[in-house]
Amino acid sequence: MTILIKLFLEDPQAMKCDLDLKVKILEKVGIYSSRFGISEPKVLLTTREVLDMPKEITEGRRTSAYKYLGVSYLQHNLVFVNIKKIPDDKTLENTIVHELIHFRFPYLSHGKRFNKLVRQGLAGKNFKPYRKRI
Ligand SMILES: [Zn+2]
Repeated sequence: MTILIKLFLEDPQAMKCDLDLKVKILEKVGIYSSRFGISEPKVLLTTREVLDMPKEITEGRRTSAYKYLGVSYLQHNLVFVNIKKIPDDKTLENTIVHELIHFRFPYLSHGKRFNKLVRQGLAGKNFKPYRKRI
């Protein structure tokens, strides 16, 4: 029996919620990725999934990932959205946009400029794809 079927038999309602949430998050990541001109990162939703990734990919933010609402692994086009720590839809939206802004503006660290871009992203702004200067 697959894990999915097993989970469903154990708690169909909980599983449906998880799937709905997962679909919702993947949709949002897809929408914002295309607005931000970035390729859609792979999304992890649980610390289990983070720990299951090869160590070299999640190095530096592995066992500490649970502390954050989200973590971006820029070099690997991978993002962790910590649903266990996210209390509501607004925080979810903020977290997704915050992380995806990291992918679009990899040279920027947290600060005023970064926060402004997050606000613009949340407001629906489109960004041209990032091009590295040669
Ligand atoms: Zn950040």
